[in-house]
Amino acid sequence: MIEIEFIGRGGQGVVTLSEMISEYMISNGKWAQSFPLLSAERRGAIVKAFCRVSDKKIYLRQQIYNPDILISTDNRLYDEVDFNRMKDNGILILNIEHDKKIDFINQRGIELWRVDATSIAQDCIGKNITSTAMFGAVAKALGLGINEVNKIIDKTFPRFSIDNKKAASEAYNLTYMSNYDINDYVNRKTDVFHIDDIPIGGAIKSDIVNNVKIGPGSMNNKTGTWTSSHPFIDRDKCKKCYLCCFYCPDGAISASLSINTYYCKGCGICVNECPSNAISFSRR
Ligand code: SF4
Ligand code: SF4
Repeated sequence: MIEIEFIGRGGQGVVTLSEMISEYMISNGKWAQSFPLLSAERRGAIVKAFCRVSDKKIYLRQQIYNPDILISTDNRLYDEVDFNRMKDNGILILNIEHDKKIDFINQRGIELWRVDATSIAQDCIGKNITSTAMFGAVAKALGLGINEVNKIIDKTFPRFSIDNKKAASEAYNLTYMSNYDINDYVNRKTDVFHIDDIPIGGAIKSDIVNNVKIGPGSMNNKTGTWTSSHPFIDRDKCKKCYLCCFYCPDGAISASLSINTYYCKGCGICVNECPSNAISFSRR
């Protein structure tokens, strides 16, 4: 039996991807099951789905904890993907920007497959709905037939199948295996905007709570994985009022006005607060 876990964001088609893969397997003579794990939150929250595939009827009904295959459909979620739970010789398939380095050590024979499915989905269907691009990526990594993948897409998206098949084919061609052992994360403690650097007015007060110093922002949560869009500051328009710095709920704007994309969650508060209209959003 093969067990597959999917992780992504609500609205990206995580559950649909799981169902399409199950359907592919069933149409190829296997037994398969697909089921979601949804959170109570709105669109954009983390969503999981699970799929089991076997030559025999499957009686197991519980959640999958140690998948053979782990698939992330969101290009900012790689930090949340716990590949240590995977079985030996598993397959990890990530939607990730082409040139992004990640903290992955090739242990226990786990293969890492990469694809920039967000860019492909934006180009082919004009939205960050990555299910069909990731279906193409899964087909490449697992050796599934792209023609049969297209048949499932025809059935699943009868009105939008042309663009979705284009996304799957493009992803199929661009998915590649690449094992990194590079830790490229920013050490936030050296980069965080300290309370003492903020000009007088408006900022929350630094304090000691339970022996821990608090200031603006969240040190431990890499909230930058919540979004694929981040603000851009036009230095010609910027008046250096620093309002954006102390209104940012994640302390993601430094004293030099650079945006730390590991912590910027894309809330847009800085855009609203900037009196000079110097901040706009762009996809990374
Ligand atoms: S969008 Fe602006 S205010 Fe919101 S987290 Fe990012 S930098 Fe901070
Ligand atoms: S709020 Fe706008 S003008 Fe003020 S520092 Fe930030 S980008 Fe510059």
